Amino acid sequence: MAAQLLDGKIMAAELEEQLKSRVAELVSQGFVPGLTVILVGEDPASQTYVNNKEKACQRLGIRSVTLRMPEQTTQEELETAIEEANADPSVHGILVQLPLPGHLDSDRALSLILPEKDVDGFHDVNAGRLSRGLDCTVACTPKGALYMLKQAGISISGKEAVVVGRSNIVGKPMALLLLKENATVTVCHSRTADLAAHTRRADILVAAIGKPRFITADMVKDGAVVVDVGINRVDGKLCGDVDFEPVAQKASWITPVPGGVGKMTIAMLMDNTVAAVEKVFGK
Ligand code: NDP
Repeated sequence: MAAQLLDGKIMAAELEEQLKSRVAELVSQGFVPGLTVILVGEDPASQTYVNNKEKACQRLGIRSVTLRMPEQTTQEELETAIEEANADPSVHGILVQLPLPGHLDSDRALSLILPEKDVDGFHDVNAGRLSRGLDCTVACTPKGALYMLKQAGISISGKEAVVVGRSNIVGKPMALLLLKENATVTVCHSRTADLAAHTRRADILVAAIGKPRFITADMVKDGAVVVDVGINRVDGKLCGDVDFEPVAQKASWITPVPGGVGKMTIAMLMDNTVAAVEKVFGK
């Protein structure tokens, strides 16, 4: 492998150490950070994500409450749960685990979370502020991906950045973050004509597609920085959206899957939660 590894495991562990000190400082002043996670239904991947979030809270000393609601939960019941968490002063962060069962309106639910408790950064206010380049809570996965680039000292300003994927939770905020860092950003999606012509121009290539090993070596420029956001399960094993081994031969830096951006996502959720408490108490 020619590329250097952007190691999410190491970076997340280092960030957790800093977060532990920030939490300890808050707790010593009587402020215990509180995160409420709302999980509706039985989706196995969601259950795993929520378990991992609970474990991270335990490691850091954040008080976490998971409201496990049945599959047949109504919109009204979900909204009541959100409003109760909004009104609870011991709750500083609220997260509704996505995807919600199909009969529920996730946009409406997310819009009810108070923007200052929206630790996922999905609320319209936070998304809108990000698009204007203003201070806001940034969605955890793109925030984590940007953090990795910065930690590795990779320069972004003036670089050609290509983001494949335009979802509200990954692709769009990723593109906005890179734009804020003065990259020249192209966003590609399923209707992009000649995708490879775009990806081959990229100094920084972010794959957030949801298709296993979709980005192949011939789509990548020599020396590119490749950030693989994808998490796919193939034959029981996790893999990303990038064909890792051949692409790693061409790239200068690459994130692995597992052990890359995914590790940073939870660390950034913890960071957003601690920051939400620090804001309340003027830290
Ligand atoms: P979405 O399905 O919401 O978005 C996928 C995007 O990829 C869409 O914009 C879609 O285009 C685009 N796309 C699909 N097919 C193609 C194609 N053939 N060529 C170009 N673009 C294409 O997924 P998410 O953004 O939620 O997630 C993306 C991946 O990241 C998934 O693997 C997911 O599991 C993973 N993920 C990882 C996280 C982490 O912690 N590491 C967190 C969140 C997600 P269009 O808009 O036109 O449909």
